[in-house]
Amino acid sequence: MNLQDARDEVVLSVEGVIDLAMKVLTQDGLSPAQAQPLARAMAWAERDDCRSHGLQRLPGCLDTMRHPRFNRNADPIPEEVSAAVTRIDADFGYSLLAFERGLEMLVPKAKAMGVSILAINNCFHSTALWPEIEAITAHGLAALIMNPSHSWVAPAGGTAPILGTNPIAFGWPRKDHPPYVFDFATSAAARAEIARHRKENKPIPVGWGVDSEGRPTTDPAAVLSGAMLTFGGHKGSALATMVELLAGPLIGGPTSLQSMAFDAGAKAAPCHAELVIAFNPALLGGETVEHNHAAAEALFAAFGVQGARLPSERRYRARQRSVTEGIRVDRELYDRILSLVAG
Ligand code: NDP
Repeated sequence: MNLQDARDEVVLSVEGVIDLAMKVLTQDGLSPAQAQPLARAMAWAERDDCRSHGLQRLPGCLDTMRHPRFNRNADPIPEEVSAAVTRIDADFGYSLLAFERGLEMLVPKAKAMGVSILAINNCFHSTALWPEIEAITAHGLAALIMNPSHSWVAPAGGTAPILGTNPIAFGWPRKDHPPYVFDFATSAAARAEIARHRKENKPIPVGWGVDSEGRPTTDPAAVLSGAMLTFGGHKGSALATMVELLAGPLIGGPTSLQSMAFDAGAKAAPCHAELVIAFNPALLGGETVEHNHAAAEALFAAFGVQGARLPSERRYRARQRSVTEGIRVDRELYDRILSLVAG
């Protein structure tokens, strides 16, 4: 680290980031049971260089906790719906405690049945999905997770925001490597990224959004008050719609339009449902399981030989770097977080 870095950055351990986040969240009244998984997810995001889901989310988390329906002491209990399906009502707390408790039923059910679903209802949610995916692949299972958000995105060919930014995440367990994981929004760009362009007075690329009249624009402010667009035109639009349906009406959750109405201008994180599906390659593959793993590995290897990278490789490299060098947190952000603790 050079001297400039020493002044502009603070180096923390994963535990240091967790402690800091825990102080801020519990000081504001969030129960330790709710706060712990959220603080861990933020620390892992910092560790993996996914900063937009790290400490900079803390002020927004406090805003979300001020939503009139937010439950700081939510204590979700999983409910067995069938041999393959678990439902858990997050009780208007954050999603992650519900996920962790539901995981305890999802995993054995997926192992026994080959496929299993965890439906999380009534959760406030603003975290990335890859930590949940990795929690499932750690058990040798493949995983698919999705959720709607707030209606910020116009459908292909439309002008008004009716869809969410609707992330889809997938994971595939590997024997001698970290899992194959992708995790992305179905919007062309993150809302925070558009807001950053506005703050820095920079134009955004064509295709990220439309103004309130539905006209394509490169003005970030016009998109924020108009509508974002999905990636991939009509294809992303259809995928975002699938997420609305599977992680909404299918499991008794709201659409992004309903989530936005529920927010009622509070500007909290979306409150919605989340669909988690786990698959057991060992059971589904039967006697061909070794052959199947080899086929998957051959596919991954074919990326590397042509210079393409697998999703999550950047994250895993950052994770290794954080182990040896610690987590570098921007000094200005660190001071801002400390002021939340003191205040
Ligand atoms: P990106 O468009 O940056 O895509 C991220 C994914 O694509 C990662 O898996 C990333 O791997 C991979 N990737 C990026 N570049 C490449 C490349 N060149 N080759 C191969 N793979 C690549 O992310 P988004 O902005 O769409 O989403 C970011 C996060 O925001 C996600 O974690 C998502 O869950 C979260 N989100 C959450 C929402 C919620 O409601 N809770 C709503 C919307 C988004 P790597 O990390 O290694 O670069």
